[in-house]
Amino acid sequence: MSSAPVPFDGHALSPQTARFLAQPHPLLIDGRWVEGAGEMTSHDPATGLPLTRFHIGGAAEVDRAVAAARAAFNGPWGRMPATDRAALLFKLARAMAADARLLTELDIVDNGMPAFIAELTTANTVEMLDYYAGAVLRIEGTTTSPPRHIAAQAEALTYTLREPVGVIGQIVPWNVPLSTAILKLAPALAAGCTVVIKPSEETPLSVLALGQMVLDAGLPPGVVNIVNGLGADAGAALANHPGVDKISFTGSTATGRRIVAASLGNLKKISLELGGKSPVVVMPDADLALAIPGVAMATFFLQGQNCMAGTRIFAHAAIHDELVAGVSAFADVMVLGHGLDAASQQGPMISAQHHAKVRGYIDGAQAEGAVLAAGGSSPDRPGHFIRPTVFTGCHRDMAIMRDEIFGPVMAVQRFESSDLDTIAALANDTPFGLSGSVWTRDLSTAHRLVKRIRAGQVSINCHGAVGTNIPFGGYGQSGWGREFGQEGLDAYLETKAVTARL
Ligand code: NAD
Repeated sequence: MSSAPVPFDGHALSPQTARFLAQPHPLLIDGRWVEGAGEMTSHDPATGLPLTRFHIGGAAEVDRAVAAARAAFNGPWGRMPATDRAALLFKLARAMAADARLLTELDIVDNGMPAFIAELTTANTVEMLDYYAGAVLRIEGTTTSPPRHIAAQAEALTYTLREPVGVIGQIVPWNVPLSTAILKLAPALAAGCTVVIKPSEETPLSVLALGQMVLDAGLPPGVVNIVNGLGADAGAALANHPGVDKISFTGSTATGRRIVAASLGNLKKISLELGGKSPVVVMPDADLALAIPGVAMATFFLQGQNCMAGTRIFAHAAIHDELVAGVSAFADVMVLGHGLDAASQQGPMISAQHHAKVRGYIDGAQAEGAVLAAGGSSPDRPGHFIRPTVFTGCHRDMAIMRDEIFGPVMAVQRFESSDLDTIAALANDTPFGLSGSVWTRDLSTAHRLVKRIRAGQVSINCHGAVGTNIPFGGYGQSGWGREFGQEGLDAYLETKAVTARL
């Protein structure tokens, strides 16, 4: 087979990716690729052109997938020695590393993200799978004292077992398709759970490629099932399914509420990773050489389609003008382009519909009196691009300060106070609580302010510091529970207490 790059709309793809796109993609149920109830077409958001077709399912396909996952849980996966489970996950990680180019290119063309981000997230997903494969043999219970009423009568032993939660439904968004999938799949499989995953209908491709790697690595049928489909069909069927023990959901806060409502039938457990509107506080003594690019990328990384995006910038009056000039100059020279262009720093919005939504916020901000300092327009080219945009003169009542826009839109508010409680009150003036950052040379001030900010992840002189081993999740309406690290594994484990009268 030729290894020559294949032309792709003015760019080049690896032959493997080109072959992947040349065929339609069924659902993965019980270890086999099967037809769904219908088909959809995925599009390249950087051009609007169709990429490939994929099958979608509804309640019937979800039913079959849940049954397969239950059979695997009660059968081969549930009975498999932990050492063998770990070995299979390490093997899957090697398969992903070997096919990293395919996974990376699929996220680029399906999502629109620049290559440097897709390469980073693919490498992170391999690391994540290795991390949780390595954690399999460290799933440990404890011993403790037996209860008095038993110990008073006889020698006794009390210990705990950590056991898998069971059949897990995983529903993921489009903004980092492979990454949001693996950071659910890896700990769930390590814990011994089986999974039905529903990727976003906007970006199904990299998870489908992963599905073939799961089969090739030799995971038993039914351990990982992939049911693509619309949220209202496949997603809702999974969230409502009485045979699902837990739903792990990443997506918008609005959909998160529906997931909670759907869980009531069988009181299934839920983890939620939801939206954000994260504060970035720049103190008067901040190192602006560090803060200007750092604050700009806090907003513009992943074209702002990033749950951690720092989009509310609180700039002390002493540095406000210099900071605004700096981030605006940064925004003005950012290179918008197709993710397959190595020079591209910012990709398009995921869809025409989302582009229109973000544009609506930009137009609305100007109507509400915010002052445009950079961007604000869409370049004259195909695809759903929006220039990185900076607004100043913002205040709490503006929609761009309140809503998660999920686009490259920065809102800057000037503050005068040096009182940390007052500054923290600005930062905390949101129902969300996912991320945030503080920029100052004074580490004492930094740590005192960090303690006052209500968010699951707060960084000092950097932003969005996620890592495989570092717990991540939201306060307030940004979610329930944590992913990554040990807490990410605990989310898929039950604790059973055992007492033996000897
Ligand atoms: P979304 O809520 O529209 O969709 C997410 C997933 O839910 C998709 O697979 C969708 O098909 C499905 N879905 C939609 N309606 C459903 C329903 N009624 N029942 C079951 N499933 C349903 O979110 P999105 O637009 O795909 O993603 C963007 C959102 O995700 C943003 O709010 C972002 O902040 C959030 N996000 C959060 C994190 C985090 O870790 N906190 C990470 C990435 C993205």
